[in-house]
Amino acid sequence: MNLAELNRAEIEQALTGLGLPAFHGRQIFRWIHHRGVTTFEDMTDLSRTLRTRLAESFTLSSPSIQQKQVSTDGTTKFLLGLDDGRRIEAVYIPDTPAQTFCISTQVGCAMACAFCLTGQMGLARHLTAGEIAGQVRVLAQQTGLMDRPFNIVLMGMGEPLHNYEATMKALRMLADEHGLSLPLKRVTLSTVGVVPGLDRLAAEPDIPNLAISLHATTDAARDRLVPINRRYKLEDLIAACKRFPLGKRRRITFEYVLLDHVNDTPDDARRLVRLLNGLKAKVNLLPLNEAAGIPFKRPSDDRVNAFARILADRDVRVSVRKSRGRDIRAACGQLLVERTGRPEASAPQH
Ligand code: SAH
Repeated sequence: MNLAELNRAEIEQALTGLGLPAFHGRQIFRWIHHRGVTTFEDMTDLSRTLRTRLAESFTLSSPSIQQKQVSTDGTTKFLLGLDDGRRIEAVYIPDTPAQTFCISTQVGCAMACAFCLTGQMGLARHLTAGEIAGQVRVLAQQTGLMDRPFNIVLMGMGEPLHNYEATMKALRMLADEHGLSLPLKRVTLSTVGVVPGLDRLAAEPDIPNLAISLHATTDAARDRLVPINRRYKLEDLIAACKRFPLGKRRRITFEYVLLDHVNDTPDDARRLVRLLNGLKAKVNLLPLNEAAGIPFKRPSDDRVNAFARILADRDVRVSVRKSRGRDIRAACGQLLVERTGRPEASAPQH
């Protein structure tokens, strides 16, 4: 049994199952999630006998750093190896103004959005809760942020609501006061809009910030760009957002990838305003990060600004996402790990 997969209560149970005192569970959880140790041997406030016993009975695994690339803007992309040899990417984005980690929830993704490289990989497998929390731990350690505040965005590879259990378990482990103490208000979960998942999330006692990848204003366009829309139509998605409980002052972020002459017309902007009417919303425009193999173009700055202007003039809060780490292909939609062969070597350049 891999203790990095267990929450504190589960570690306590595992200990009592071996006839060991449960109170060591808290220490062990702390060593794993707050101190980031990777062997039982390093848990130096446990007796030598206990450490030996733990090492005989359990394993402890962490994503391993296989490659680290630093962008000219300081954004750092980590290629992480998992126990079964699969690889994922996670990104550190400094000073936005917060320190932010962009974390993956799956190896690949099943959603197949038309403009996203990860989508072209298909889904290899879900990540486990330990692997999701492990990325945060490894990045916090690598960037010296173990004891300092940071945000996480679930905007790496994968669709978090398609891996609901593991994602939520990881968030609760990260929030544990004996772990990283990462409050859910510092977490943003980004989703294509899996409606049953949204309703499930709405019923949780503690809810992260929510970002919806909208990207289109008609079902015809969204069916093509975000294929899950064929199952959950815009009307259903917006209705789910309307019934989603938001704390005071919180808003749902609507992400909107701008594709040149596809979804970036003034009519789209006006339809977007109407669609969001009555919602506590803010819109984050993402001018496409282009890549070979993605059949769309990034609009000109003028088109991006014109689109943003229409929203702002109608009192919709809007921002344009500044792409970080494009030179190392760490930007949105650019996370791609080849299934076989050398990491990155054959990924398309742009
Ligand atoms: N599956 C989740 C989270 C991962 S993607 C979701 O779809 O929300 C994080 C964001 O990056 C999404 O809004 C996604 O649509 C966007 N994105 C994907 N490919 C992109 C690209 N090539 N350029 C800009 N943004 C992209």
